Amino acid sequence: FTVPTPQNEPVKGYAPGTPERASLQAKLTELQAKEHDLDMYISGEWRRGNGEAIKVVQPHKHSHVLGVTHAATGAQAAEAVAAAKAAKREWASMDFADRAAIFLRAAELIAGPYRDTLNGATMLGQSKTAAQTEIDAACELIDFLRFNVHFAEQIYAKQAQSSAGLWNRTDHRPLDGFVYAITPFNFTAIAGNLPTAPALMGNTVVWKPATTQQFAANFLVQILEEAGLPGGVINMVTGPGPEISDVVMADPDLAGIHFTGSTRVFQSLWKHVGENISSYRSYPRLVGETGGKDFIIAHPSANIDQLAVAMTRGAFEYQGQKCSAVSRTYMPRSLWEGGLKDQVLDITSQIKYGDVTDFDHFGGAVIDERAYAKHTALFKRVADDKEATVIAGGTADDSVGYFVQPTIIEATNPEHEVFTDEYFGPITSVYVFDDSDFDSVVRQAADVAPYALTGGIFANDRAAIARASEELRFAAGNYYINDKPTGAVVGQQPFGGSRGSGTNDKAGSWQNLVRWISPRSIKENF
Ligand code: GLU
Repeated sequence: FTVPTPQNEPVKGYAPGTPERASLQAKLTELQAKEHDLDMYISGEWRRGNGEAIKVVQPHKHSHVLGVTHAATGAQAAEAVAAAKAAKREWASMDFADRAAIFLRAAELIAGPYRDTLNGATMLGQSKTAAQTEIDAACELIDFLRFNVHFAEQIYAKQAQSSAGLWNRTDHRPLDGFVYAITPFNFTAIAGNLPTAPALMGNTVVWKPATTQQFAANFLVQILEEAGLPGGVINMVTGPGPEISDVVMADPDLAGIHFTGSTRVFQSLWKHVGENISSYRSYPRLVGETGGKDFIIAHPSANIDQLAVAMTRGAFEYQGQKCSAVSRTYMPRSLWEGGLKDQVLDITSQIKYGDVTDFDHFGGAVIDERAYAKHTALFKRVADDKEATVIAGGTADDSVGYFVQPTIIEATNPEHEVFTDEYFGPITSVYVFDDSDFDSVVRQAADVAPYALTGGIFANDRAAIARASEELRFAAGNYYINDKPTGAVVGQQPFGGSRGSGTNDKAGSWQNLVRWISPRSIKENF
């Protein structure tokens, strides 16, 4: 292969007093100095939406408006579709090397001159700390771009067997139509990956980022533009999803959807496609990563220190707003009462959420008012629930930002909503069991929630690990042994899950990229 196996982008620490900290701080000041116009990008041109104006604020300081975005009207969404269709032929026939070079250059721009910009925008717009931003908007995004090129090259190199007088070959065509990418607020890396992965494989794209992520999304487009992306290849539309989706999905050339977001929305998109299936020229490829109710299950032989750190980091980093966040745990009584509970509560009490721009806090605010209202409603529900006890947190304050305290809820009924429902916030649950019940608890935990994204088992006893791993075989697409089930690294742990968690087309891997091609087998006889 001509592209060497990439190395993962090294993570910067932003320690106090370092030039990298000073440089990021200066960028944060610059980014906050004015209100930004967060326009759409269609056919290589920046355009303002003709719909309602939407303010994009800092979640940890909601009085600060970062910028204003305007919703695309239906007519403008249709223009984005037309732009993608018009750019299709030329892009699809461009050499892979020329397409790939654009994304490799984008990776260099993010690694170098735009690292602070994208990190800063993600900190401000999505309330991420420098540490959480760096592993997302910098490292993971750079890795997605570089590794996807490497995997794509391997896919294109795969050819059928030939023999004397007979030449078989594979034409790895893009899909016959355009791809619709819909991205969530929680990872700038996902916002970058979902439109660029299909584009790398020769498709043109209509992209709808979450409005709460529009600040970083606009810089991302500027970077792709500077990297040489031709107009019309990725068309970004702004504003709330449903109206835009109705227009985009009404087009007969819709050939695929690349989605990350809620289970409910993905199911509604799937239904929409199903109901209109005869109107499409092809069967649209539906690729989605959706919800999770990610678990940690501990065996009595597990290491308490390791467990306490994994549980608290897994549950509370980025305010629990990762699809992979630890949102239910199962702890043996001997460990829980023998020091683990005290350690977990001690660590949790030291976690401080606040203004992420001061580099002092472990986390920031939850993304918006709606998330805040959802979490506080849960706190009200459990307050008079005999089966559940809040043992940490359970409080919130939205006077300055949407702050929800790290919360742990202990419940006695293993079918309680705290073990089945996704909250997508800094809220986790504990079920304490008698040590001898380990196997039956594993069995129950494997199927109680409608998701199967991530999960981890903690044990020293190898036979217990083997039994649990077999029982949990379909309970998680990313399964961890003695490690927290968050923070998958591109090229190391391809990411995705099944059941209510998605189509398991592993982000950042060849498995994902093959969904964006439609091969033509060619047989030539001499
Ligand atoms: N890949 C991320 C992780 O492993 C989670 C991505 C998501 O939240 O969708 O933590």
